Amino acid sequence: MEEKIYIFGHKNPDTDSICSSLVSEILDKKNGWKDTEARRLGNVNKETQYVLDYLGIEAPALLEKVEEGQGVALVDHNEFNQSVEGIEKAKIWSVTDHHRIANFETSEPLYYTAKPYGCTCTILFEEFKRLGHEIGKKEAILMASAIISDTLLLKSPTTTEYDKKALEELEKIAGINVNEYGLEMLKAGTNLDDFSANELINLDAKNLDKDGTKFVIAQVNTVSIDDVLKRQAELEEAMRKEIEEKGLKLFVLAITDILNSNSKIIALGEKAETVEKAFDVKLENNTAFLPGVVSRKKQILPNIDKNI
Ligand code: MG
Ligand code: MG
Ligand code: MG
Repeated sequence: MEEKIYIFGHKNPDTDSICSSLVSEILDKKNGWKDTEARRLGNVNKETQYVLDYLGIEAPALLEKVEEGQGVALVDHNEFNQSVEGIEKAKIWSVTDHHRIANFETSEPLYYTAKPYGCTCTILFEEFKRLGHEIGKKEAILMASAIISDTLLLKSPTTTEYDKKALEELEKIAGINVNEYGLEMLKAGTNLDDFSANELINLDAKNLDKDGTKFVIAQVNTVSIDDVLKRQAELEEAMRKEIEEKGLKLFVLAITDILNSNSKIIALGEKAETVEKAFDVKLENNTAFLPGVVSRKKQILPNIDKNI
């Protein structure tokens, strides 16, 4: 065995990031190839906590930075600006991901598994199959939860046939009713009352970089957009602070209605008008309604990236 390898998802971890790291650790133990341990790069959100409580397990330990030469395995991300501090000098063993590849390079060869699926855990589900390992109930629940989260119960346009097939099979192994369990899990993540405005805009924020133009797209899930917009003034204040501190040209907060599959965005920054071009809308009071838009990865980011 080589030295310990840390497996982790992106900063501001979501359910896929946490579950993928836990499931990867289980998969690696079954394989016995390398000694890996799941880690997280930030606080666990309420949706993910619901999953961990359901299973009666702890979240992975927090990883704040890595030393030079530390072995790491990335799941659910590849962009360095979404990864751990020190990533540039770490030894990246593997990446298992379902995002665009950007702001990423290594000096040595690595395992890289990229599939344009709705969820990293769908890729891991296929890895269990490919390697001939039986899927236990615990990892079935972890993978099902991640797929439900990333695809919003298979309603997001990011959903593929592979995600559907995986979730169908995982539902049987997990012994859950995916629709009932999934709705409870998603709703657990929409209780935003006790978060400060600053916490709220950072719950699920992605730092992005287009040829040196830095911008952030953050997202919160809700069952009532109006409820979240009651806090628009303080949210904007927190966003403006981030713009100033991080030198951002644009900060977009997408407030996504998970029941009706729509989003309202708040856009601030000197490049705020990018979103008008990107979605053919007019910003009113810094906001715009985007019917049918729920996916940052497939609907929001590509359009902004093209126009910024
Ligand atoms: Mg993710
Ligand atoms: Mg994901
Ligand atoms: Mg997400």
